[in-house]
Amino acid sequence: MKILIIGAGTAGITAGHLLEQHEVDFEILEASSTHGGRVRKVDNFADFPIDLGAEWIHKWIRAKPAVFKQILKGADPNFPTFPDKPTTISIWKNGKLRARNWYRHFPVPTDLKFTDSTWFDALNRLATPAVLAKTRFDSPVVNIDYSNDRVVATTDSGTSHDADRVLVTVPIAMLQRETIRFEPPLPEDKRSEIQKEEVPGGLKAFIEFSTRFYPDVLHVGGLRRGSALNECVYYDAARGKHSDRHILGFFTQGSAAERYTSHGTDEQLFAHILRELDEIFDGQASEQYVQHIVQDWTREPYIQGSYSQRKANAEKLAESVAGRVFFAGEAMNPNGKTIAVHGASESAYTAVAAMIT
Ligand SMILES: Cc1cc2nc3c(=O)[nH]c(=O)nc-3n(C[C@H](O)[C@H](O)[C@H](O)COP(=O)(O)OP(=O)(O)OC[C@H]3O[C@@H](n4cnc5c(N)ncnc54)[C@H](O)[C@@H]3O)c2cc1C
Repeated sequence: MKILIIGAGTAGITAGHLLEQHEVDFEILEASSTHGGRVRKVDNFADFPIDLGAEWIHKWIRAKPAVFKQILKGADPNFPTFPDKPTTISIWKNGKLRARNWYRHFPVPTDLKFTDSTWFDALNRLATPAVLAKTRFDSPVVNIDYSNDRVVATTDSGTSHDADRVLVTVPIAMLQRETIRFEPPLPEDKRSEIQKEEVPGGLKAFIEFSTRFYPDVLHVGGLRRGSALNECVYYDAARGKHSDRHILGFFTQGSAAERYTSHGTDEQLFAHILRELDEIFDGQASEQYVQHIVQDWTREPYIQGSYSQRKANAEKLAESVAGRVFFAGEAMNPNGKTIAVHGASESAYTAVAAMIT
């Protein structure tokens, strides 16, 4: 049996790792020139590696893929972690900066963070030479023909790859935009479930300053509006790391992100962030500015968004079609453990078990 995996993010790499263990032949087709997808790091910005995508270890999402089990417990000796417990918390709302630890009143579960590594490093444990050797990069799939026993995936250069089964792990935002044509088209109920999901924009930025003038965490716009999935937050990214530098992180996702993602270029976007910080901290941001990096996931050609908002039925999304087309990934965890890295990884376990049984 041979399996084609579309996408080399967390779900695709986990699937490759599992198939390798089961000695099942597979091939991964990845649109971009690297693996990891929404798990990505930069090593040379600060004196610690920085996660440009997934950063927190969300223990409250109870997916438990064996490969990340020890990390999720905070007990993996190769990936030390610490509980993310900010102590100075401020809110910027209606032109006023208030120091307020509202976590006391609305307790949020404590996430873990990596001390000196990243989610990308953790994923690399699965991205073994054997898995990467079977990955074709720069190979965006544009067509999947599953009308016959052999499934055929064709890339934008016209190259065809065939197998007994295909595992689609591309972001749901790409399925919504129908960047892959299915022959025959996916069943109507599957297509409408895919369209029900919401995947808003999202981005991160990291800014180095010469001194630290900001709290551990600064929420812009006050308390989260009704959902933990709608955030706009600055945070001390160097806190808990072995670092002598002053690195402020910025993360926004959901409707709150739109006022940032609506800018046409990273320069305009960053100018907006710096203006906002200058307003909040009386011009200190421009005075202390050293360097910055922006990662706008909305503009990534093969991602085009942040993550799902749990509007669709994940079990339905994950359902296979015709016994030949399988799905896994962030939004496709059939147990609804969506959003997170470990949820994406766990969904690959379910899909691989179904494919090889
Ligand atoms: C800003 C941000 C912050 C986040 N923070 C956290 C966090 O703190 N903790 C956490 O657990 N999770 C977080 N997440 C979510 C987490 O990153 C994702 O759930 C997870 O990485 C998704 O993995 P995946 O394999 O499903 O998809 P992806 O990682 O998106 O992988 C899909 C792959 O498919 C490829 N692809 C797309 N189209 C095609 C095509 N046509 N042909 C071939 N390949 C294709 C893409 O290039 C990509 O490599 C965050 C996400 C974002 C954007």
